[in-house]
Order: sequence, then C-alpha cells, then structure tokens
Amino acid sequence: MAVGVRQPIRPLPPRAAERIAAGEVIERPASVVKELVENALDAGATSIRVEVRGGGLRLVRVVDDGCGIPADEIPLAFQRHATSKIRGVEDLAQLATLGFRGEALASIAAVAEVDLLTAADSSGLGTEATVRGGSIVACVPRPRQRGTTVTVRYLFQNVPARLKFVANARGELAAITAVVQRYALAYPEVRFTLLIEGRQTLRTSGRRLAATLPEVFGAAVAEALYALPPLTVGEAHLTGYLSARHVTRPNRGGIVLLVNRRWVEARALLQALEAAYRPLLPRGRHPIAVLSCALPPHAVDVNVHPAKTEVKLLHGAELAEALGRWVREALGRSAAQPAADLELGLSLLTREGTLRYALSPPAARRVAETPPSPPGRERRPAAGERGERGESSLPPLRLVSQVQAALLLCEGPAGLYLIDQHRAHERVLYERLRARHGPAAATEIEPVVLELRPADAARLASRLSQLAALGFQCEWFGGRSFLVRAAPTLPGAAAGLAPALADVLADVAAEEDDWQDRLLISIACHSALRRGVALTWEAMKALLAELDTVAAPAVCPHGSPLILHLSEPFLARQFRWR
Ligand code: ADP
Ligand code: MG
Repeated sequence: MAVGVRQPIRPLPPRAAERIAAGEVIERPASVVKELVENALDAGATSIRVEVRGGGLRLVRVVDDGCGIPADEIPLAFQRHATSKIRGVEDLAQLATLGFRGEALASIAAVAEVDLLTAADSSGLGTEATVRGGSIVACVPRPRQRGTTVTVRYLFQNVPARLKFVANARGELAAITAVVQRYALAYPEVRFTLLIEGRQTLRTSGRRLAATLPEVFGAAVAEALYALPPLTVGEAHLTGYLSARHVTRPNRGGIVLLVNRRWVEARALLQALEAAYRPLLPRGRHPIAVLSCALPPHAVDVNVHPAKTEVKLLHGAELAEALGRWVREALGRSAAQPAADLELGLSLLTREGTLRYALSPPAARRVAETPPSPPGRERRPAAGERGERGESSLPPLRLVSQVQAALLLCEGPAGLYLIDQHRAHERVLYERLRARHGPAAATEIEPVVLELRPADAARLASRLSQLAALGFQCEWFGGRSFLVRAAPTLPGAAAGLAPALADVLADVAAEEDDWQDRLLISIACHSALRRGVALTWEAMKALLAELDTVAAPAVCPHGSPLILHLSEPFLARQFRWR
C-alpha cells in the first residue's frame, strides 16, 4: 500500500504473523520514539513534534498531522499483529511503509501508560483513549484537528529488569536525538521539532535535504559536505552527502545510511565507506555521511530484524564498491592550505638580531584544507589505474628546490607548494602495494625471530599464507615463536623495512580487522624515504612524477596532509601586496 492511502486496521492472518521476524521491539526509550515517529511518517504527516522528559522514561510524546485513526479502529491499533499497512505475507515483498508488524503500539502499551488522542477527519472532533496495562480503560470524544498525539508515560516502571538496562539519561537523550535526526534527514520535506525537557534542540524547516543538513549538523559541518554524484547499479540508486577530510567525528554517529528512506545498518555500505575514508583520516576518526539508497521494494528485505534496522540489499556489494571508489578518488586529491584567517608570524633581521612580530600567535597555526573540487559524474579510474592512463593528479608543478632536506618546494599555476618527501613517497608506495596483483616478490633477509603473546600468535599463525602472498616468508614453530626469512621486495624503496620487521609483524598480529591494509601502510611507512635525506634533482623529479600518478596525492596513508599550498591570494594577503 502507498503511504497516505489509508486502509483499515486488520489482524494479520496467523501465517503472516508467524513470518514476521520475532523479537523485542521496545528495548529503550529511543525505540519508543522511533516507532512513534515511523507511525507518524506512515500516516503521511507533514509536521512531527517529539517531546521528551526524564530521558524518555518519564514522558515521550509524538504529535503529528497525519491521517489519524478512526475511533472504531482504536482497539485494533493496540492489538498485536493488527495493522493497516500489510494484508498478508505477499505484501512483505512490496513494502512501501516503515511499519508492517502491527506490534509497536501493543508493545509500548504493555510497558507504559499510553494516552492516544486522534482524529481521522476534519470535523474538529477526535477521540482520546486511555490505555493502562495494555487495555483501553476509557475512550472519550475530545477536540482535535486531524492527526494523532501519542503520549507515553512511566516507561518500564512495571519492568524493573528492563529499566536497569537503560543507560543513563544522557546516553538515552543522545540515542533519541539520533533517531529524530535520522528521520529528519530521511524525510527532509517533513517538519520535525524535538523538545528535550521543554527545550527545543532540533527544528527542521521541511524543505529539501540541502536545507536540512545545516539544521541537523550545523552550518559549519554542512559547508564541508559534498554531494555524491548519483551512483547507479542495476535498479539501485545511491545519492547523498559526504564530509571533506578535515571534518571528522570520534565515532560513527555522523554516518546516516538510508535505504528507501528507512534508517538502516547496511553493513556492506558502512564498511566500504569506512575503508575508503581510512587512509584519508587520522586513525580513530570517522566521516560524516548521509547516504540514501533507493531500490524497488522487492529488492530490499527488511524483515530480517525486529527493529527493522538490518536489511538485505540487492546489489549491496557493487554499490559499496562504487561508493568506496568515489570517496577515494574525490577526497584524496586536495592539498592542505593554511586557514584563510591565518596570519603567519614574520621575522625581520635587524642589527640587534632577530626581531619577531607575530600578527597573531604563530603557535595557533592551523592548517585547514581546501574542499575537493566537486567530482564529476564520470567514473574515475581506481588507484593504480591512473598511471597507466597517463592522467595527472597534481596541478602542473615546477620543481624549485629541496628545502630543509625534507620538503620539495614547487611552483604551480596557483602559488607555491611544499611537499613532504617522506609522506609523498609513503603515499606512492602504499598505492603501488594496494594496486599490486598476484604474489609479491620477496627478498631473503637475515632471519628474524618473533615472540608474540599467545592470542597474537594464534592470529598471526592463521594469516601466514596471506602474508606469504604479500612477500613475508614467515614460519611458525608452534607456541609463540615465529621465524621471518624473507620480506617483500620494493623497487625504489629504502631498506628501512628489515630492521622494523619484528615490530611490523607484531602489529599485524595484534590487529583484529583491516590488518592487511594496516600492513600495507606500515610497509609503505618503513620503506619510504626519510625526512633529513638530501635528494638529487633526478630523485626529486622522479618522486614528483610518481606522486602525480596516485589517486590521493594530498594525504599520506595515515591521513596526514602531505602537500601544503600557499596560494597567491594567501601570499598577497600575508605580504599586504593589495
Ligand atoms: P504498524 O505500524 O506496524 O502497523 P503499530 O502498532 O505501530 O503497527 O500501529 C498499529 C496501527 O495503528 C497502524 O497500522 C496504523 O494504522 C495505526 N497508527 C498508529 N500510529 C498512527 C498514527 N500516528 N497515525 C495514524 N495511524 C496510526
Ligand atoms: Mg508502527
């Protein structure tokens, strides 16, 4: 059934009720908010107001202007497995609504005091039902414009066990806020208001997503979000916004994945997104993203989890791949720039020695980053392909000199560029390692003995064949000891890896996830040219030429900037030329 075209509420046939994923719907106050907001959206509301007190345990109230519930159907609304949204099993494959289980109101009424005020027509008169212990104890006419108000009080007071599992009020408020934010982003055309302890903490204007982003994330963050060019795989379409490299979060709370406007934990997409950002962001930081995937209803299975947050997606893997490629290609290109408002400390040499005047504290030097140029719609080549296709990653640069035995000073069309030689080489080696197909060449080394903690030893032992493919010849003696006999050969790399081998492999053994990528980063880091090494002109030219072929020439694999761009306007301002 389509949203807004309301059918009467009916009990599901037993066969359908059995097929619905079983499990507890109402685990915490945030689940109450989620279910009530979903009901309001299914009712076609254009305005939804959420009110919360006492971390949601004392009060949750959701007010909407949707289609309302006819008075005679109110008892059915509180009956388990009775719904207006599907009629039978067949409809599960064609779901167009957020709800379909017919369980939320019944589950909430079982663990809280519920008052429902609803009107299904424009007569100005509605019905108020008082529900206690899951039963309707009073039903009286009351004035109400079309729409529904559900008030939930004293949640879990009759279930002390569940009350214990509810985190502190602050954690709960964060979860509730996240629920409302996600739906505000999923339904930008709906006006949302969130009131916490009587204070308005979120308000959206009900227009377009571009307008909702600053309302949810704040103007500064919204400015650093870039529109993803629409990605299409088969019948699946992915659109959305992703953060630039300098805007990060310490957790995944800023990542919102929507499938057919339902917030989900689409693991494949999430992992692809995180993997693509990882080499661009400092360790432990996460991006902000609002990604919306549209699919025909038959291509999504939402009935795999009671809270409906896990879904199975058709084309999930291909979408994840396309998304990852876009992030790597689009966000790894922009050079770091000193912040526009930065004033460099100036030094003047006088007869008395060096006289410093800082126009603003030089200690406060911040390095901001230029936004990536909005990526085009065409598919960009993946890491490693670029070189073969002869495309440039960098602006045309004229090498001027090496400075401080650490930086290449270059001149480009838009100012001066300082390139960190170690990080540049690290990036080049890393991308080459990633793009390599087939087993790596290995060089025999003076054997190195490795002693690991038992858990780490077991982990390393299970990875020996993959390590061999990467060029590490490593033998296990059982127990905690390993012998390393060969390490990967890297043409053009310094011999820095061998001495660090024990540390590198110990890290691999300690790493749970992503160990292969981390290993490549580690190999690149140890093998790369150091700072403090004087380079010949040819070596510098070669490094620049190689950097020009990589996909993300502006950040090292650890996520730190490797190019600093002193733009013409920046220099003009600093020198007060104009
Ligand atoms: P479901 O949403 O899975 O159908 P619920 O228990 O959440 O189950 O709601 C039961 C029924 O009550 C819904 O099918 C719908 O017809 C009606 N309903 C609940 N909330 C609202 C609302 N805010 N506006 C209109 N109808 C509602
Ligand atoms: Mg519902």
